Amino acid sequence: MRHWPLWTLPRPALAYWLLVDLCALAVVVYVIAATPQPDPGQIGRFAAIAGTAGAVVIGSSIHSHRMGETERNPWAAHLCYLTAGLVALPCNLLVLLLFGPALHGVLAQRPESHRWVFTLSATALAVFGTRFAIGWAEPGTDLVVLVLGATVLLVLRAGLIALGLKLRNPRAPGEEVLGEPIDVTLGVVAVSIGGLMGFAAVANPVHALMAGPPLALLERAAQLPHWRRSAQRDLKTGLANAVHWDGRARAELAKARGSGRPMAVLLLDLDHFKRVNDEVGHLAGDSALSAVALLLSGTVREGDLVGRFGGEEFVVLLPDAEPAVARSVAQRLRHAVADLAVPTVDTNGREHLLTGLTVSIGVATTQRFGYELPDLLVAADAALLAAKGCGRNLVEMA
Ligand code: GH3
Ligand code: MG
Ligand code: MG
Repeated sequence: MRHWPLWTLPRPALAYWLLVDLCALAVVVYVIAATPQPDPGQIGRFAAIAGTAGAVVIGSSIHSHRMGETERNPWAAHLCYLTAGLVALPCNLLVLLLFGPALHGVLAQRPESHRWVFTLSATALAVFGTRFAIGWAEPGTDLVVLVLGATVLLVLRAGLIALGLKLRNPRAPGEEVLGEPIDVTLGVVAVSIGGLMGFAAVANPVHALMAGPPLALLERAAQLPHWRRSAQRDLKTGLANAVHWDGRARAELAKARGSGRPMAVLLLDLDHFKRVNDEVGHLAGDSALSAVALLLSGTVREGDLVGRFGGEEFVVLLPDAEPAVARSVAQRLRHAVADLAVPTVDTNGREHLLTGLTVSIGVATTQRFGYELPDLLVAADAALLAAKGCGRNLVEMA
């Protein structure tokens, strides 16, 4: 227990995450103790909702496994059948539905289970908070009440999770904390299908089966943001890959051209990196690349675009950067790399603290080379070569 990654959270995040977990546990215990036994009709609705959702989620898991998909986002499906439960079930059977995501978390054996528990707890609090708003014993069936309920569920859940993520990493961008527009769309679709499933189950439990196909489609659609992110990221460093960086940089340059805002492109190449591979090993080299990537993204401003250009080469687009600013950012990056110490393991399996990494940087600015990306890259590359020629660990302006 002392080695749980939970304890590595910053203090405020740890306090908040534990508070959310404990509140969720308290609510679940209260619900189990205070809700009267369900009648056979309610048990029939539960069986229909849980059976349909279970078949879809398990079927989709098997399919993902077969297709070699390593990561899945199952929360859209969970949110869908939890909403059906909100509409159609008494609170104690709603607790039973929460076993779905709980079981999923256990079976998936995620390395950071505290994250899963936190998301589950926040979801449970949002579900019962919504139930409180739309009618604890018997939820209202008015359309206005239902729209209000769906909004409360989505906003409360997103808010509870966003606060936890922000406390964990105050520098995390809005998209990581609140989700992207596609995540919001998926949430709205999930609660809509869930609401219809709940209504169908109230009318006749067997009708809940009709929600199976749209739920299956939602499950697949929920993987889209993940697939898109994988296609845009470099797997080794987590940075934008070369193609994605290129597209974004061109778009930023086109925007800046209209207003004449100054931009700069930095091309970075680690010095004598082959030696790291030869002397400490390729895995240590990979760790060094990841550490440099993390350092670069943490050292530039929000809005600057960092990408992996190639092997041990990185590229940064600096919006609104005059040549003097671009030079000082490049110098800051160069110093940061020189101060880096990366814990690695050498080819004999011994721990090795890798230090002494240096980087050469070529800088090209729109003031001299215009707003065409290829021109800027050619100029930055020539400056980088000059930096290498002058002895490395240097910044050269094109
Ligand atoms: P220079 O200062 O002239 O840039 O020397 P260098 O050794 O860094 O340059 P060179 O281009 O000769 O070698 C780059 C090395 O980077 C070769 C390759 O083994 C290593 N490299 C490229 N991509 C990766 C990677 O993904 N992982 C690891 N471990 N090494 C990589
Ligand atoms: Mg190179
Ligand atoms: Mg190199």
